[in-house]
Amino acid sequence: MTAVVIDGNAIAEQLRKSIADELQVLRLSEVRPGLATVLIGESFDAQAYERHVKRLAESLDYRYVCERLPEDIELADVIATLGKLNADPRITGILVLHPLPLHIPEAEMNSAVDPLKDIEAVHPLNTGLLAQGRPRFLPSTPASCFYLLDHYADASGGGHESFYSGRTLVVVGRSNSVGKPAQMLGLQRNATVIACHSRTKPLEDYTRQADILIVAAGVRGIVDGAMVKEGVVAVDVGIHAVKDEQTGKTRMVGDLDFDSVAAKAEAITPVPGGVGPITDVWLVGNALMAAAIAHQVEPRFGLFR
Ligand code: NAP
Repeated sequence: MTAVVIDGNAIAEQLRKSIADELQVLRLSEVRPGLATVLIGESFDAQAYERHVKRLAESLDYRYVCERLPEDIELADVIATLGKLNADPRITGILVLHPLPLHIPEAEMNSAVDPLKDIEAVHPLNTGLLAQGRPRFLPSTPASCFYLLDHYADASGGGHESFYSGRTLVVVGRSNSVGKPAQMLGLQRNATVIACHSRTKPLEDYTRQADILIVAAGVRGIVDGAMVKEGVVAVDVGIHAVKDEQTGKTRMVGDLDFDSVAAKAEAITPVPGGVGPITDVWLVGNALMAAAIAHQVEPRFGLFR
């Protein structure tokens, strides 16, 4: 079987264009999204991501601010900063960048952002709405997995409404930000969902049942071709930088052993160029949604369910 390689870059660009189009319409109601990032400390990854989000937000003419806080800041001061952003009507979406310093508890951060500005969809109110099947915002990474899957289902002719029904979706990973919401989104689409995690033994007994497989374990190459069945549609969330022995250059790989899974799959997402490009665009889409909500304008997006 020759797998279709789902092109995340092309699909992300289409999504970015539809956000730009929606923005034009919302401008007529004087809606202008304002995105704030909160960067605590000097993490290289967080700083690189901040620059990336800034570029994307500014390319769409959003207002943009970054609150840079020192590594040793007290929790109360971080919460005060978030309170200030929550109260600022020019800011419609807030993103707290990761990784956080060890003394700043993630759960406190998740609850400190106004749920109506919570574009990461991590506030307990937003995760609760998602669990009840009536989400306000969708967390960008799992939403991106399903955006790619829906896109593939539509492009392959069957349509995404019927794609999941009667199929087994296996999700490897149960983090609050990726695995669990991916399970919820699968249930919402009427897939039969199997949730795997680090205590699932043996993993291959479950992954082999997957008609659709989402792997978000953060373990390089954890699923290979021997662990999947013919015709699986596989989505790789993992990102790992590895040094190529031959060229000496760094390249990105995922949680799937790409070549062996692709040899059996009907379709597969690559790393890089699969889930990753959609997630950033999704985040700015959530900021647009938040701006529409703040202005009590009904967004036309059909993307966010
Ligand atoms: P995480 O918080 O570390 O969660 C990993 C999950 O995988 C946990 O639920 C863990 O199980 C499970 N797991 C770990 N080892 C396993 C094993 N051997 N067998 C089965 N399950 C195992 O990571 P995350 O934030 O969900 O992210 C997962 C991966 O996605 C990472 O590589 C991350 O870099 C990547 N990521 C990519 C994007 C993107 O834009 N493409 C965005 C976010 C994250 P337990 O719960 O039992 O510990």
